[in-house]
Amino acid sequence: MQRYRGSCHCGAVAFEIETDFPELTTCDCSICRRKNALMVKVHESRFRLLSGEDSLTEYRFHTMTARHFFCKTCGIYPFHRKRVTPDYFGVNVFCLHNVDLSSIPVRQTAGVTME
Ligand SMILES: [Zn+2]
Repeated sequence: MQRYRGSCHCGAVAFEIETDFPELTTCDCSICRRKNALMVKVHESRFRLLSGEDSLTEYRFHTMTARHFFCKTCGIYPFHRKRVTPDYFGVNVFCLHNVDLSSIPVRQTAGVTME
C-alpha cells in the first residue's frame, strides 16, 4: 500500500492515507450529488489527520451517523465518516496530491435509496 497526502484548498486541513486504490466511488445521495464527490474508502487505521482539526466543521443530517467534514476557511470537503461503516472514511480523491486517477475503476454506489 502506498501513502498519499491530501489537503483542502487553503491548506489548513492536511491528511495522509494509505491505499492501493482498489476502486473509486461516486454516490447519488443528496449530499454527495451536490458535492459531485469522487471518493476512495479507507479504514480509520489508514487515515491520519496531520493538521487542521480546528479548521474542520461538521455537518450531519438524516440519521446523523455519517459525519461530513468541511474546511471552515475554504469550504472544501476533504473527507467524511461513513454511515453504514463508520470506522471508514470516504476521502475526496481530488484533495490528494500527485495521484493519477485515470486507470482506477469507478463504481457508482446507491446512496439515494438509503435515505
Ligand atoms: Zn481550507
